[in-house]
Amino acid sequence: MSGNNIKVVCRFRPQNKLEIKEGGVPITEIQEDGSAVTLKGTSQPPFAFDKVFGSNTAQQEVFEYSIKSIVDDVVAGYNGTVFAYGQTGSGKTYTMMANSQDKGIIPRIVEQIFESIILSPANMEFTVKVSYMEIYMEKVRDLLDPSHDNLPIHEDKTKGVYVKGLLEVYVSSTEEVYQVMKSGGNNRVVAYTNMNAESSRSHSIVLITITQKNVDTGAAKSGKLYLVDLAGSEKVGKTGASGQTLEEAKKINKSLTALGMVINSLTDGKSSHVPYRDSKLTRILQESLGGNSRTTLIINCSPSSYNEAETISTLRFGVRAKSIKNKAKVNADLSPAELKALVKKFKGETVSYQYYIQALEGEVTIWRSGGTVPESQWATMDKLSKSGTTASPTSPTSNSPSPRTPTPSSFRPALVDESRPTTPALILEKDEREEFMKRENELMDQIAEKESELTEREKHLDTLQEELGFLKEQEKTMATDNQNITTELNDVKLQLQKVSYDGKESAITVDSLRDANQELELELSQLKQTLDELRNLQKETDDETKSKKKADKIAEMMASLDPPDSDISLKEQQLKMTLDKLNPDSAINLSEEALQQLKQQLLQNKAQVGQQELVIKNLHHDKETLLAKRTELETKLNALEVEYEELLEKAINDEETAMERNADLTDTISELKIKLENTYVAKKEAQQQEIQDLRQELDRKDEEYKALDTVMVELRISNDKLQSALDSQPKTATTLDEKEKDIEKMRKSMAEQLAYFEVMKKGLMRDLQSRCEKVVELEISLEETREQYNHVLKVSNNKAQQKKMAFLERNLEQLTNVQKQVIKIKKKVRGNRERYHHQFILY
Ligand code: ADP
Repeated sequence: MSGNNIKVVCRFRPQNKLEIKEGGVPITEIQEDGSAVTLKGTSQPPFAFDKVFGSNTAQQEVFEYSIKSIVDDVVAGYNGTVFAYGQTGSGKTYTMMANSQDKGIIPRIVEQIFESIILSPANMEFTVKVSYMEIYMEKVRDLLDPSHDNLPIHEDKTKGVYVKGLLEVYVSSTEEVYQVMKSGGNNRVVAYTNMNAESSRSHSIVLITITQKNVDTGAAKSGKLYLVDLAGSEKVGKTGASGQTLEEAKKINKSLTALGMVINSLTDGKSSHVPYRDSKLTRILQESLGGNSRTTLIINCSPSSYNEAETISTLRFGVRAKSIKNKAKVNADLSPAELKALVKKFKGETVSYQYYIQALEGEVTIWRSGGTVPESQWATMDKLSKSGTTASPTSPTSNSPSPRTPTPSSFRPALVDESRPTTPALILEKDEREEFMKRENELMDQIAEKESELTEREKHLDTLQEELGFLKEQEKTMATDNQNITTELNDVKLQLQKVSYDGKESAITVDSLRDANQELELELSQLKQTLDELRNLQKETDDETKSKKKADKIAEMMASLDPPDSDISLKEQQLKMTLDKLNPDSAINLSEEALQQLKQQLLQNKAQVGQQELVIKNLHHDKETLLAKRTELETKLNALEVEYEELLEKAINDEETAMERNADLTDTISELKIKLENTYVAKKEAQQQEIQDLRQELDRKDEEYKALDTVMVELRISNDKLQSALDSQPKTATTLDEKEKDIEKMRKSMAEQLAYFEVMKKGLMRDLQSRCEKVVELEISLEETREQYNHVLKVSNNKAQQKKMAFLERNLEQLTNVQKQVIKIKKKVRGNRERYHHQFILY
């Protein structure tokens, strides 16, 4: 059974929608006997395979031709492998798995296994175990137990190469196999979702182990069947798999690359070393490639011109694989003859290796002693095998070959097994080989552990890197914040310096102000003292001068009001004269009629006088009301003055205290100003209102007076007429006595009236005098206030105070104006009253 080639079959699928849409056309031209395929429109020579299946080939046909015999062999104790190779979407999974309607290879294999078991002799006992694994990113994951995601690969002399810890599920029916496959498939999907990878990037391997035991003889055989759905053969990047770095992508493809390399080494006829250990896939399938296995490789291709390049590369791979020679054998003990032949062969090889070792040691000695060996003279196996002698560039120091136990790290010898292909066939003793394998297994375990650890660390590293990124971000923001804070701090520092400088300046100002305040206080106390003194002095002198001044002014005023040649005096005299005329001493004759008329007129006049008296009474009442108003106004004025004085005093006091509380100075002044302004404006408005009212009242009174005036003038005229008529009447003797009596009566009544007028005049004069006195007093107090104010103004040299004073001065001026207006009104009232008095006297 040795020397059989790998069976390579090629299967084209039908063109898919994309290819048709993109304008692709089928370019495959399969030879009639199905042994080769030519790609139309390319310069490629025909690709020869064991069998080429066209697009319409049924699953059954593929299975019958390529696989069926392998299954029989596996049941018979051989190892078997079925590979599906090709670019993604070329039909690998379809060929291997397709289950429901158009069953693929695996279901058919399983069915056949159980059929064969059923048909086997009764003395044969079978056990069937299924394992399902995948290789992704150079890690072996158990799809039936996904928690084992990095299983190590071991090798021992009985089991050969195997995945340690891989779950093997015993199955007894096709259904059970399907169930196992289904659960494995589900785990694969979950794993991909978690890893963000694509199924096309992992290799999945189904392993079916069939053990048969002859219950009669006890002889046992076991066959392993590897069903491999390889990752997409396309170049990295073409599938557009995202989220992977180039390194990862390389790792994903590593197994496939290694597979190509292994096939190359096995087929080029030159390589002495087959790099099975370069990838997990090639290591697991070591016995399927150039070893103890019946192997079929199914090359899946697209028939379309659209995928021409990938198809060519896939076909080339298949062609290369075709020339691999496997040495499949039943997994049983070898016969003695076979073993002898092998021993002979190995002895020959051992000798040549000993020479090689000698040559190398000789060269090493030269290198170690500091010498050099030209490249042309370096010891190689090729030279040795060509010369067949111990070709040594220099005489080796040691001629005694001492084969050493090579360490796995120094080189990787392929283990010699009767059933396996030989890599550099360094022969090891049985013990050494076992030792080596043991050591290698240990190392594989360690590697798996280290890899798991590495993954953990990588995860941890990722977390740390994320954290680092976050911290860096935070640091950045903090740095910005820090910068901002520093700027703010500098600003604050500057402000602090400014404030401390201002503070110092303020302290100096406060000191100077305190000094000034002390001086002012001193000055103020002095001034107060002087003021007190002056007040005392003034009080003393005031009483005298005031009374004197008052008397003078009153006299002056009275004189102006009642001069000796005034109308009142003149009329008084005239009245007196009339009375004199009416005197019985003066002989005046009046006719009776005339007298009668006179009497009548007099009676009328009396009535009119009575009326006038009423009017006068009313006027008197009005006058009293006006007087009351005047008094009220005066009181208000006084109150205003008092308030003004208080304010002035308060202002001075506030000024003093404000000097101490320097910071509040401006505020206090402004507050004071506002307060003063408000007060004065209110007062002013009230007073102006009152003045307005008074003016209106006066106007009304004026009109009344005018009306009275006209009445009086009329009365006077009629009186004059009466007088003249009386004067012109001749006196008669008969009525003389009566006339005398009447005249006497008239005279008496007139005298009474005159006396009454006299009293009234005196009263009015008194009233006038008292008012004049008050006006004078007011004027005097105003002058005093003014003096005081001027004095205070002189004393105060403070600017703010001066401002305040100016404000107060303005207010004072306004007050003065108001007062003047009041005086004017008073004068007007007085004038009206005089006029009335004058008219009355005339009457
Ligand atoms: P791969 O496993 O290589 O990525 P698939 O097996 O998933 O490719 O196949 C891709 C598509 O092509 C699937 O929809 C499949 O049904 C279809 N297909 C592949 N081979 C054939 C064939 N021989 N006949 C019919 N359809 C096929």
